[in-house]
Amino acid sequence: MYEAGRIPHALLLTGPEGTGALPLAISFAQYINCTGDKTSGDSCGRCPSCVKYKALTHPDLHFVYPVVKGSSPEVYSTDFLDKWRELFGESIYFSRIQWISRIKSDKQGAIFKDDVVALHQKLGQKSVEAPYKVLIMWLPELMNETAANRILKILEEPPSNSLFILVSENENDILPTVLSRTQRIQVSPIDDESICQHINRLCPTLGEEQSKRIAHISMGSMIRVNQVLNDNDELKSNIEFFANLMRSCYRRDASAMVSFVDSISKMTRDEHKNRLQYCIHMIRESLVYNLQQEELSVLTNDEESFLKKFAVFIHPGNVFGLVDQFNTAIFHIERNGNSKIIYFDLMMQVAVLLKIQRE
Ligand SMILES: [Zn+2]
Repeated sequence: MYEAGRIPHALLLTGPEGTGALPLAISFAQYINCTGDKTSGDSCGRCPSCVKYKALTHPDLHFVYPVVKGSSPEVYSTDFLDKWRELFGESIYFSRIQWISRIKSDKQGAIFKDDVVALHQKLGQKSVEAPYKVLIMWLPELMNETAANRILKILEEPPSNSLFILVSENENDILPTVLSRTQRIQVSPIDDESICQHINRLCPTLGEEQSKRIAHISMGSMIRVNQVLNDNDELKSNIEFFANLMRSCYRRDASAMVSFVDSISKMTRDEHKNRLQYCIHMIRESLVYNLQQEELSVLTNDEESFLKKFAVFIHPGNVFGLVDQFNTAIFHIERNGNSKIIYFDLMMQVAVLLKIQRE
């Protein structure tokens, strides 16, 4: 695209969490601004521009990402730039939950109008040292409406020598008018071979078979690879969440349900959504497990040891109802419903569905 001399004003990179759309966006911007030897088709990695790009400190590289409002009415991405560089320095693959917890908030992140207005001003100025001013917006689907309308104005009349790269995990939630002004590039999940290489670099003692298995269950997401490799606490608490919820529903144990709901009352909306989505994943996996479709299964060892006993309760007679109930709960969580009420409703329905006998 670059070599053909045709760089569009606005690109949209889309790919599920952990597939590397964000690092790809940064690499591309680094490449077009690299002043060194680019004959290999990649940036040189050593010129002053590349060095600043790698540290995310280039003066013509601007970021907008979800943030949360504190006591002040205005909030900008730049307020959190140190944290952003810090997290990116630890791993170029991170999830929205990891980011929001890094900025120590229990709220749902969003992209606000103030941020977009400030950006518009910066893009209107001349670039400091690079041929292109680059703006990378991570998760444009989290723009509120006023921010989205403001972005639309910029995309309609893009400042000269500027490049917008939107990096989305869920393009269905982006305004169609914004979508129509971008050139869309789908980022594929990372292939198993590249994941195996990554695993071998990190854990050279792990055998080939183990690496292949981890690659398979990671479904192209480096975040999941890291979770499995690090025996991640998050993965463990996800399993625990699913197991506790399902157990108390199956037993129709009202006091267990109450203490379950109490135990999760401090979770953020993002965490609720994440956990509920994880439950849908496990319900699907239960069905696959029952059908003994091993090549379709993407379970970790811990997950498998729970599903060994539990999977039998999920069957074609209740699986769709269960998935519907969890999706309904996510829908209400997203619309700021009272989480306690949402969970009680969910658990009542799940308790009924789990008692449906297998045909
Ligand atoms: Zn360079």
